[in-house]
Amino acid sequence: MILALESSCDETAVAVFDPAYGLRGEWVHSQVALHEVYGGIVPDLASREHLEYFGPLVQKALTVVASGDVTQLAVTRGPGLAACLAMGLATAKSLSLAWKTPVCGVNHLRAHAFSPFLALHEAAPAEFDTEFAKLLPHLGLLVSGGNTALFSIDPARRICLIASTLDDAAGEALDKGAKLLGLGYPGGPQVERLARTGTTAHFQFPKAVAQKSTLDFSFSGLKTSLRYQLEKMSPADIETRKADLCASYQHAVMDALVRKTKLALAREEYRSVGLSGGVANNLVLQAEIERVAGQQGVPFFRARPQHTGDNAGMVAFAAWVDREAGGVCHAGFDLQLAPSLPLAMD
Ligand code: AMP
Ligand code: MG
Repeated sequence: MILALESSCDETAVAVFDPAYGLRGEWVHSQVALHEVYGGIVPDLASREHLEYFGPLVQKALTVVASGDVTQLAVTRGPGLAACLAMGLATAKSLSLAWKTPVCGVNHLRAHAFSPFLALHEAAPAEFDTEFAKLLPHLGLLVSGGNTALFSIDPARRICLIASTLDDAAGEALDKGAKLLGLGYPGGPQVERLARTGTTAHFQFPKAVAQKSTLDFSFSGLKTSLRYQLEKMSPADIETRKADLCASYQHAVMDALVRKTKLALAREEYRSVGLSGGVANNLVLQAEIERVAGQQGVPFFRARPQHTGDNAGMVAFAAWVDREAGGVCHAGFDLQLAPSLPLAMD
């Protein structure tokens, strides 16, 4: 059994993964309320909160697994806030000493990349390697508050970055747009909710793509154009047209993601398409990416809601998926944190 710890940002999380079954349990302490009043994450407060909550969460995990049955500890080593990652690493090393269990460090983005396949494993644990091999090479779209990336997973389970954003991440663009519209944080879900009753017919925002020929994204111009649009409108006008503004703005963000995914699928042959990260909760995006995958005749996988945000379940799973990848999982007591670890690196 693998016990995993996650503390890269503002979520303290612990999970237990059983290779013969799937996830035996997941526990998350969210710090949203703590940071809300400051309008952003305060690293010093976040790390103290991680320190406070890891103990109780590990105790909860010990209600479903005996420490003697934990054969591997996994912990997010990066990317993330250094002070926060340090709490996970220190906890993992302490448990490693106490339980005489090896510890490995996991790339948080790599964990997101594999997160759509947790359900595939759960459906038939013993068949996972065979079934997963049939889905490679895989094209993945990782969209969150901090990342926007198109990447591939090759048959050796290596990740190669295909495209990323030149400025804001997709989730960040939605959050900033929502802020301009006077909606709360996180903005993505609020924009989606309002967009449902609006139409894209009245407002046109620029496509959030860097250049037509490259696969890279660029979202900062989109946010600026929303600001210009709002400056031309009266507060009352903005209020009555809010749903339409949300629909058009959301469409511009999602259209860029869908367009580039389609382009990547046309350039190379992939045997599956995946969607992960917080923005993967968006129903419009899910439907569109599923449609694009369907047009190419390849199966579509998406992370379940509990695995789109920061969680330890995907960290445990990634450690297991990488178990035989020779050195991919950075093991050992001298494990170091890596705050700016990129997606394509172990
Ligand atoms: P993460 O960075 O993975 O924790 O995801 C958080 C990001 O996902 C934030 O930018 C949210 O606005 C965004 N997000 C969450 N749910 C949705 C949704 N339903 N539609 C669009 N964006 C969303
Ligand atoms: Mg994350």
